[in-house]
Amino acid sequence: MDYAKKIKKSKSSIRRDDFDIRPPGDMPVFSKGSDYRSGRRFYQRPVFFIALAALVFIFFSGRYVWREMRWRYIVIHHTASDYGSLEYYRKLHMQERGWPDVAYHFIVNNGSDDTTVGQVQESEIWQSRSHHYSTKNSFVNYFGIAVVLVGNFENHSVPAVQHEALLNLTVRLSREYGIPPERIIGHREIWATACPGHRLNMAEFREDVKTALNRP
Ligand SMILES: [Zn+2]
Repeated sequence: MDYAKKIKKSKSSIRRDDFDIRPPGDMPVFSKGSDYRSGRRFYQRPVFFIALAALVFIFFSGRYVWREMRWRYIVIHHTASDYGSLEYYRKLHMQERGWPDVAYHFIVNNGSDDTTVGQVQESEIWQSRSHHYSTKNSFVNYFGIAVVLVGNFENHSVPAVQHEALLNLTVRLSREYGIPPERIIGHREIWATACPGHRLNMAEFREDVKTALNRP
């Protein structure tokens, strides 16, 4: 029987199921997962590369959104102690609290523990854009940037240089991540705590941020 002729004749109505006979040697042998018209497997077809490019795009844009666009709050804390630096609190939180890293994204120093007044340090949990551990509200921990000032602002006011450094940092973060002043909050505004101390007036601080943001 001339198979080629037979196939040609019924080309318009041909279906894969029609091949209930073993094809002779000169015909392509179809295996599972191949395109039966071209004999190419899925990963050899252009649609595979389009799908792969789409997946890569979705992965990287999702990662970008998660890293750079998820920030909704800035939470301000004090350390309640006039001594320390990023490394000091990192050790304290890991050894005494059992957390994987320091609780905060940024620390604004007061000049103690070999730092300078107003020096801002960025922690590794900010570099990896991880959530922080600074509040008991996990929503704020995931979607908020945690900033801490070294000092106890129940006892004394924030030194001018340190206050200015906090303002500059907050304004920069607010601009960069589109966080409006009303979502810059003091720890005590979301939890029963004295942090960051009553001598740091959050309402006034938000006004200061608003004024700075309106400056060109
Ligand atoms: Zn706090």
